Amino acid sequence: MDKREVIAEAREKGVKFIRLQFTDLLGVMKNVAITIDQLEKALDGELMFDGSSIYGFTRIEESDMYLRPDPSTFVVFPWRPREGGVARLMCDIYNPDGTPFDGCPRVILKRQLARAAELGYSMQVGPELEFFLFCVDDNNVPTLKTHDNAGYFDLSPVDLGEQARRDVVLTLEQMGFEIEASHHEVAPGQHEIDFKYSDALDTADKIVTFKFVVRTIAQRHGLHATFMPKPVYGINGSGMHTNQSLFKGNINAFYDENSPLQLSKEAYYYIGGLLKHARALAAITNPTVNSYKRLVPGYEAPVYLAWSGRNRSPLIRIPAKRGQSTRVELRNPDPSCNPYLSLAGCLAAGLDGIVNQIDPPPACDRNIYQMTSTELDELGIKSLPGSLPEAYAELSRDEVIRDALGEHIYEKLSEAKAKEWESFSLQVHQWEIDRYLTLF
Ligand code: ADP
Ligand code: MG
Ligand code: MG
Ligand code: MG
Ligand code: MG
Repeated sequence: MDKREVIAEAREKGVKFIRLQFTDLLGVMKNVAITIDQLEKALDGELMFDGSSIYGFTRIEESDMYLRPDPSTFVVFPWRPREGGVARLMCDIYNPDGTPFDGCPRVILKRQLARAAELGYSMQVGPELEFFLFCVDDNNVPTLKTHDNAGYFDLSPVDLGEQARRDVVLTLEQMGFEIEASHHEVAPGQHEIDFKYSDALDTADKIVTFKFVVRTIAQRHGLHATFMPKPVYGINGSGMHTNQSLFKGNINAFYDENSPLQLSKEAYYYIGGLLKHARALAAITNPTVNSYKRLVPGYEAPVYLAWSGRNRSPLIRIPAKRGQSTRVELRNPDPSCNPYLSLAGCLAAGLDGIVNQIDPPPACDRNIYQMTSTELDELGIKSLPGSLPEAYAELSRDEVIRDALGEHIYEKLSEAKAKEWESFSLQVHQWEIDRYLTLF
């Protein structure tokens, strides 16, 4: 859709309000609402907002930023009334001098996609988003209680969560998502909805939209949806497996029917690049204190830096499908990540692999969790960082991922995440009380 078509459709569908959306550094969606009368001005990129009120955006003295809506992202919210409807447009953020703003995650992803395009590639991504649906108490405050006791793929007719999920799927379909699967996950209250892969920018936009829709619809069912990676100790956390491939034109560049595993050289190098940078990339793909509570043995989340075509314990799995579906599944990202930055980082790592011809280690087709530490050492299998500061220490030494983020975002994120870790570390947690209060 172009500018004219957006305005025509907005009028035709009785849209009254348009939300101009973008994400901050942490991937949290922000909105500036305008009325239809301002739509043309907005589409011309003439709308200003005060960037100093958004964390990590600008200094106070240079606070005027411009929003440049991407007309192709125009969607009407299906849950709003037909009269006086509401629509949205995703935006890039620009400086007053008309240059793209280095602190805008969407701009950062576009830069990396442009680099790939120079090499002849487009990045295709299909995410698998998991989340929990929790009950709220009488005051509408979220609890950790779930409404069901179902397990993986179980059918439970009286589950409030099932109904909410069905409603989410229908809503997403009305918004142009092609839903491929939706099912109950392993843990009580946990769900997964998969939508069809598409180019990376579209998928990143869809991920932030997805989270917003799931939260909105859950609320209408009296439930609280959370994308927090590990809300409950002792059961599976929520991941966002990130299936990725590179295409050359309409052809999947990861597929090569003549190689033994039917994977191209590019696919191998891409895997090599991801594995090389995975520890630094974790700062972006697993960006919260809580992320590292999910990346522990025993709950289907990856811990070790290895790849396999067969089993699901390593960081990278190559699903069996070939042809156009040939892809690399990176299993550590979780849904608390900023998808624009996460995909920019994955692509930078993969391209580094291709440009510098980084061979991956041999595939590891055994269950890594059953190996002893001596075996792991012998095979040279390292693990993901065990905590947020460990990931940031790794990121500080990784030029490729830092370059992909740019200095502005790297500096602001490091600062924000150091504070987050400090605040967590200063707290006295319930675990400490339980352990030490009576012992000493
Ligand atoms: P799993 O077997 O890990 O549970 P799913 O079937 O849940 O995988 O999800 C697979 C995802 O991979 C979907 O989003 C799908 O659209 C996506 N996908 C398929 N082909 C490609 C491709 N060539 N590139 C990127 N993603 C792809
Ligand atoms: Mg899945
Ligand atoms: Mg599946
Ligand atoms: Mg799953
Ligand atoms: Mg998966």
